Amino acid sequence: MPPEQQTLESAYKRHLHEHYAVAFNHLFAMTNLPIQRFGAVLLSTGRFDQYMQLLKANFHAPNLGKLMCKNTLSVDWQGFVYDCDFNQMLQLPLGGKQNLHLVQVPVLTGKIIATLQHCYGCTAGQGSSCGGAIG
Ligand code: SF4
Repeated sequence: MPPEQQTLESAYKRHLHEHYAVAFNHLFAMTNLPIQRFGAVLLSTGRFDQYMQLLKANFHAPNLGKLMCKNTLSVDWQGFVYDCDFNQMLQLPLGGKQNLHLVQVPVLTGKIIATLQHCYGCTAGQGSSCGGAIG
């Protein structure tokens, strides 16, 4: 699990400034989701189940209301729409049904979001999104 984002940001700022004269504004701490290359590494090293248990053990219900898929969409280069970029990488269509093109997307308020076990990566601990921690 990534360390607490603010603590990590302070430590990185201090270290990079002192050793490399590097300054930056914000650090986003993200949880590795068990998909694609990282998922394949977990599977090939026999650690996939262990990692899933870690994510599930750190499930933090208050993160549910702040998930990026609740207010953001991901659109691929052809205009097909997904609930998030992780689902896009998995080719998991918006709502888990058939592919929807941007021009076909209905009003989305109250619609179902396609979720699978990789979503535990967004809900664990301080939560995770493209903008870093959400908790
Ligand atoms: S991976 Fe799941 S929980 Fe995370 S943003 Fe996508 S749909 Fe939401």
